[in-house]
Amino acid sequence: MHFNQNNSNIVTNWEFSLDCAKKLDQNDKLSHFRDKFHFPTFSDKRPIYFTGNSLGLQPKLTRTYINRELDEWAKWGVDGHTRAERPWMPYHELFTDKIARLVGAKHSEVAVTHSLTTNLHLLMVSFFNPKGKRCKILCEKKAFPSDQYALQSQLQFHGLNPKENLIEVEPRDGEHTIRNEDIISIIEDHEDEIAMIMIGGVNYFTGQVFDMQKISNAGHKIGANVGFDLAHAAGNISLKLNEWNVDFATWCSYKYLNSGPGGVSGYFIHERHVSNEDIPRFAGWWGHNKEDRFKMPDTFSPIPTAESWQLSNAPVISMAAHLASLEIFDEAGFENLRAKSIELTNFLAFVIDEINKEVSINLEVITPKEENDRGCQLSIVAHGAERKLFNQLTAEGVISDWREPNVIRVAPVPLYNSFEDVYRFGEVLKQALKI
Ligand SMILES: *Cc1c(COP(=O)(O)O)cnc(C)c1O
Repeated sequence: MHFNQNNSNIVTNWEFSLDCAKKLDQNDKLSHFRDKFHFPTFSDKRPIYFTGNSLGLQPKLTRTYINRELDEWAKWGVDGHTRAERPWMPYHELFTDKIARLVGAKHSEVAVTHSLTTNLHLLMVSFFNPKGKRCKILCEKKAFPSDQYALQSQLQFHGLNPKENLIEVEPRDGEHTIRNEDIISIIEDHEDEIAMIMIGGVNYFTGQVFDMQKISNAGHKIGANVGFDLAHAAGNISLKLNEWNVDFATWCSYKYLNSGPGGVSGYFIHERHVSNEDIPRFAGWWGHNKEDRFKMPDTFSPIPTAESWQLSNAPVISMAAHLASLEIFDEAGFENLRAKSIELTNFLAFVIDEINKEVSINLEVITPKEENDRGCQLSIVAHGAERKLFNQLTAEGVISDWREPNVIRVAPVPLYNSFEDVYRFGEVLKQALKI
């Protein structure tokens, strides 16, 4: 291992060693962010937390932010809606700028409220409008179960049979990930049948990032609406939803966005739609024009932004956790985080290659190799291994995810994981495979 001559901050030759990992951590300008999080304490082993793709760790700041709102509630009662330091009535507006930057949107295009699957349904009420022959939905095979159920039940809601009207794109034989070109050609093959395309922007199982811009263009060319579930994308990869012309998208805040179990969701609706009152939607009072909301008029008059899809007043306690987390993202800067994320995951891929040289079981990374085609997660098939392997990892403090029959999903996240975490994970994995 040596340091690059021209830029002493870049370690060019990696080694699978603690020394190398520590040098990489010393060069990491974001390494101090790790101290801003609580790591699980339930085990006597030092945790290697690689499940930020499932539930992000708790920022230490979160308790302060939640307590602040509890104190406001105790002090003001109902008057907190207007008199709290951050009044609850417009509390959700605190997210507009932060979220718009995170997903590449204009202020009018985003809002934060409800939960993810709820938002997915609300958005499909607006953007899945089957008519005649154009009544099908295109999605990826083995989408996250909640998305599958949501899509199937939307079809049924319109009196359509999911078996006939859900087109699922799958990997080619012998491949693990779906080729973007296959998605595009299936869109073209069904050009007069597809009403809506709804895909997980980053596949939860393989970690594959889809080419959202290309899919969006191809969908629009045939006259379909295009939406993405960004549960595994928000806070993980760079997004440019406005520029990509995506019609709608939604995500949760408790995975990469570290905002707590069941945390509030966010959504995006492209500016060309937000003030179109002809788009069908399910309405609630929080989507009604702010000026006369409390005059309680009989007819709904939508706010001319994505906020008009809000049904209910802001869940402030859960939003306080989201706010604490987003302030940390702002402090770190998302571009810095993404740059570290790429390096951290490349280092993990390198470590797995090194382990493969020393053990008999083959570890096959099924996540795409190209850094633009993946976020921080790697999904590893441990050929010939059984659940016992996962149990051994867990016993050594590795907190990861196992999918039958033999897939380990690990996600080193740039805010709180270190190169040393990656090294130590590699050591534990290597030892477990040698037994
Ligand atoms: C995590 C996840 C969900 C979970 O949905 P909730 O409504 O938040 O329970 C849904 N879809 C995808 C793709 C996910 O990754």
